[in-house]
Amino acid sequence: MSSEERKARESIVAIGRSLYQRGLSYGSAGNLSVRLGDRFLMTPTNVALGALEPKRLSLLDSSGKLITGDPPTKEALLHLAIYETRPNVKAVVHLHSTYAVALSCLSEVSPDDVLPALTPYYVMRVGRLVLVPYYPPGEPALAHAVRERAQISSALLLANHGPVVGGTSLEAAAHAAEELEESAKLFLLLRREKVRPLSQEEVENLRARYPQP
Ligand code: ZN
Repeated sequence: MSSEERKARESIVAIGRSLYQRGLSYGSAGNLSVRLGDRFLMTPTNVALGALEPKRLSLLDSSGKLITGDPPTKEALLHLAIYETRPNVKAVVHLHSTYAVALSCLSEVSPDDVLPALTPYYVMRVGRLVLVPYYPPGEPALAHAVRERAQISSALLLANHGPVVGGTSLEAAAHAAEELEESAKLFLLLRREKVRPLSQEEVENLRARYPQP
């Protein structure tokens, strides 16, 4: 096993535990993955992110076939669709975190830019959030829709389901998913207040300095 793979396994276990302990994941919801060259390391199906074991993580080949470890998450196709569309994405975090899921259930949002830029950190870490229409979890049609929408952004919100965020590392993807969760919470807190979001110019300036992977 390469040291890169060993590090990726430890990182998935540590970040999974941290997300679980802080309530960003519950039950067996949520899944994490890391790209290792043309292979992918993924969290197994039906395991809590707080109880992962390095040796049991699912190692998949480039076509998504299991090489070693437990059977992968049923949402593996989702991760593979993002890796396929965005070569700079090295890790993907998918959560059912409460505020982001609440946001995913709203009917009147702008599908190409779901959240207003309330803070610079949202723009720096998430960039732009794009909505993916609802399809049942694990269906090939969902992966197809993700492939299409990931061309616009590495941060996606699956309608009535939750966020999927790509990053240049697992840490970066997790930080982006957490920033997204807090931004969704702020948005919902402020929904009935008069708010000054960042201007288009302020947003463009940050997007140019902090491009998405
Ligand atoms: Zn899910």
